[in-house]
Order: sequence, then structure tokens, then C-alpha cells
Amino acid sequence: MACEVCNNMVSDNRSNFPAIWEILQNEYPNPQPALHFNNPLELLVATILSAQCTDAQVNMVTEKLFKKYRSVEDFANADQETLEKEIYSTGFYRNKAKHVRESAQLIITEFGSEVPNTMEDLLKLPGVARKTANIVLARGFGVVDGVAVDTHVKRLSGRLGFSKNKDPVKIEQDLMQLTRREEWDDLSMTLILHGRNVCDARKPKCDICKISELCPSSLV
Ligand code: SF4
Repeated sequence: MACEVCNNMVSDNRSNFPAIWEILQNEYPNPQPALHFNNPLELLVATILSAQCTDAQVNMVTEKLFKKYRSVEDFANADQETLEKEIYSTGFYRNKAKHVRESAQLIITEFGSEVPNTMEDLLKLPGVARKTANIVLARGFGVVDGVAVDTHVKRLSGRLGFSKNKDPVKIEQDLMQLTRREEWDDLSMTLILHGRNVCDARKPKCDICKISELCPSSLV
């Protein structure tokens, strides 16, 4: 299996998924997202802002932002330039501000000012792809519809030999085959935590990794 993410040849390792999953579940019991939010709207905005940005940085920005913008109308009526300045440090601030404003406007006109709770409707919002929709559904509404594939999930799926694809939608399909629907959200959160804590993009800490003996990309 060629990993298109890391450009290395990685063997198909799906047969080891149950053993790896058991170890990771023990390592990260009850995995939780690091983003701070109090309701589905805040979760949606925080997740849009988290693209190409650390959760810690997003939390610093949203701590102030959510005190100023408290409703979907507040975000819909936000001034583009002002919002850009307020979220500047999360990167890609022009597009993110535009997506937040336009999503809020669509939520008002199409969804009665309530963040929608289906994959189909969430995907209609500007700037919302399956990753964001999966996170909002699972953590905002308790609805598990898929596996959220962010940069960590994408990288680890390749390194661990769970998927040879680089398209997040195809990676998601591959991961959904590996485990039960009830575990899809935990699988995503767990891979994110392992990617953040151990399987770093540049310097994976294979020497302390609990799954190194089962990982085809292990450097030890
Ligand atoms: S052994 Fe290395 S490459 Fe494999 S999951 Fe662990 S840290 Fe990542």
C-alpha cells in the first residue's frame, strides 16, 4: 500500500487495526475535543476557525469573540473587516470571516436561526466540509454520521496503513469500514490526540509510541 500522504510505501495494516485500536483506547480513554464551546453555534464557528490552526490558538481567539458575538444574528451582521481583525491570528482570516458571516446568514434564512443537525444541511453552509460537519454533529448534537478527518487523522491513517488515499472523503470511508459507527467519533478524536502528542508530522516519537510494534511506519 503506497501512502500518498507521506509518500512512503506503507503496507496494508488494516488487519492490525483491532490490536492498535485497543491500545489507543487504553491510552486515550474518553477522548475529548480541545476546542472550547458552549453550544452548536460556538462549536461551528470554532471548528471553522480551527482549519490550519491549533486548537489552543482558536481558544484564545474565541474566548473574546464569544463574549461579543452571542447569537447567530450577531455573526450574520458582523462587519467583515472587524471580524477579520478579531480572528486574524487563526490564519486565512479573510475566508474564515466570510464563511462565518455567510454561514450565519444562511442559518437565519434557511434554518430558522438554528444550526442544522443533519449532514446534508450542514454541508450547505459556506466553508463547511465533512470534517467540520462531523465534529458539529457528534459534539454538538450527539449524532455520529462519519469519521472527522483532519490533518492528524489523515497523516496517521497513512502511516498506520489504514488508508492509501489522500482525499479526506475516501480516508473517511476507509476508516468507517474498520470499526462500528458508535466508535467513529472516538476514533477520530483518538487519532487526533495521538497525532498531536506522539505521531508528530515532522518528528514522530516512535521510541515512546505504544503502537510502534504494530506500525508499518515505525522508525524503531
Ligand atoms: S510508531 Fe511512529 S509513525 Fe507509527 S504511529 Fe507511532 S509515532 Fe507514528
